[in-house]
Amino acid sequence: MIPSVLPTYSRAPMSFVKGEGSWLIEADGRRFLDLGAGIAVNALGHAHPTLVAALTDQANALWHVSNLYQIPQQQKLADMLVELTFADTVFFTNSGTESCELAVKMARKYWYEKGAPERVEIITFEGSFHGRSSAGIAAAGSEKMTKGFGPLLGGFKHLPWNDHEALTAAITDQTAAIMIEPVQGEGGIRPLPDQCLKGLRDLCDEHGILLILDEVQCGVGRTGKLFAHEWAGIEPDIMNVAKGIGGGFPLGAVLATENAASGMTAGTHGSTYGGNPLGCAVGCAVLETVAEPDFLADVSRRAGALRQSLEGLIAQHPDVFESVRGAGLMLGLKCKATNMDIVNAGYDNEVITVPAAENVIRLLPALNITEDDISEAAKRLSAAASQIEKA
Ligand SMILES: *Cc1c(COP(=O)(O)O)cnc(C)c1O
Repeated sequence: MIPSVLPTYSRAPMSFVKGEGSWLIEADGRRFLDLGAGIAVNALGHAHPTLVAALTDQANALWHVSNLYQIPQQQKLADMLVELTFADTVFFTNSGTESCELAVKMARKYWYEKGAPERVEIITFEGSFHGRSSAGIAAAGSEKMTKGFGPLLGGFKHLPWNDHEALTAAITDQTAAIMIEPVQGEGGIRPLPDQCLKGLRDLCDEHGILLILDEVQCGVGRTGKLFAHEWAGIEPDIMNVAKGIGGGFPLGAVLATENAASGMTAGTHGSTYGGNPLGCAVGCAVLETVAEPDFLADVSRRAGALRQSLEGLIAQHPDVFESVRGAGLMLGLKCKATNMDIVNAGYDNEVITVPAAENVIRLLPALNITEDDISEAAKRLSAAASQIEKA
């Protein structure tokens, strides 16, 4: 009999009733160190007092009004994002998937309005993830996501990761945009080298193509800059944001330059919930904290400490772990043992990590994880590895 919850996930047995900082707690009091943060969502950990206050204050005042009216919290968050980034304008969504959808629509509409309606093609990359909508799965293109779901949305060209020649060869006079994650998340924590991101920007400029960066997972302070592309010193035309921006409340955004957004006039796009007062009140509180230079410097410091302890872990357990990769607090441990076995051994030792492609386990802890919790993480991961070695 089909479960009452549609069985599209194979779930671990833990069931949490409370969260505190980097800890998740079950009803019987069992405490798990959370290095997954809901897949890079709980940017400030669980139950951060500032976010709880922002949400409850807003909940007591007003939940929902519709985008037919002014929404001051949305205006404030958009102003902050415009102030802090390359963007001139922002559309709010409820998820990363919806942000990717709009980015695709926006790029195509841009060319349509420029009198080049044939420019609909969007170049994407192997191993990428852009959500589970029809456009999202077509954009990523992997059989795992697309098989059985009927005709795919057309107009995507999938290229190998990190192959400059394939890229230059793929560009035609129908290319509308290139869409890429500066650090692939689901694809196994694969950072695009700064040089490649710069090269992509140059290539886009040369051909007048729009550069869309999907920073749904790597954005909002995760790499130690507010957005990952800042490390390369370049700016996109369009950027997808979600996950961390809501700190656990469903919130996403598409950020764009005035030029890239020029086709999106009244009536061309919309959302019932996108940019609602609750999400935006929380988003403002997240951004006010994360965008502080001191906070971002702390992320880099914590990332250094975590990375160093992971290097130690690899040295201690060379048959279980192979190498560490990633940027900031978006780290991947490439495994020699099967990644899911290590994730499960982690559960036995009350530490939570997240599997990814390429036999990697992901560490995406809260950006404010404490030094003590970083030391504890290394201990628990080491215990998990020992368990694998003995098995
Ligand atoms: C998670 C993710 C998405 C999809 O976001 P949802 O909120 O699950 O819809 C899109 N792109 C990237 C890079 C992601 O990591």
